[in-house]
Amino acid sequence: MTVVLYPGSFDPVHYGHVEIVQTAAGLFDHVIVAAMRNPSKSDPFLTLEEREQVLNETFAELDNVSVTMFSSLVVDLAQELEADFIVKGLRAVSDFEPEMQMAQMNLSISGVHTLFLPAASAHSFLASRLIREIARFGGDISSMVPEPALRILREKNAS
Ligand code: ADP
Repeated sequence: MTVVLYPGSFDPVHYGHVEIVQTAAGLFDHVIVAAMRNPSKSDPFLTLEEREQVLNETFAELDNVSVTMFSSLVVDLAQELEADFIVKGLRAVSDFEPEMQMAQMNLSISGVHTLFLPAASAHSFLASRLIREIARFGGDISSMVPEPALRILREKNAS
């Protein structure tokens, strides 16, 4: 049984992430989507608990996908959950360099390999940072994020 860990901020989850999870769920026996508390992002849009809830609703129909949250090192979580690989999505060449460095660092400290999945071109422009900006100004993000994320973003904007 091959278990993979897909870590990210998911603030908010968008269709680029969804596509990576669907692809990984078709390739591997079990996918664990892990939302991280990112110390370098001091002002998260959604709380970690909100992100976990949105991820759970988004992937509720995929039997071999589970969701967790963490604030430790990704490799420590991978070892704790006995994940075989870390999975990351690549949008463009610009993603490659930092992700490659991270993958090599993680391999050297833990022996856990990272597998890269390419984004489909239809989703390669999606980034949570840009979606947050559009949402903050009330722009239409309905084609970019799944329904559970849309709902919570609308609730937050309304309050
Ligand atoms: P973002 O970069 O959108 O803020 P995260 O930091 O949560 O999202 O990213 C988590 C993982 O998802 C990373 O491996 C990232 O490269 C990947 N990812 C982000 N956006 C996309 C996309 N549009 N298509 C495929 N993978 C993506």
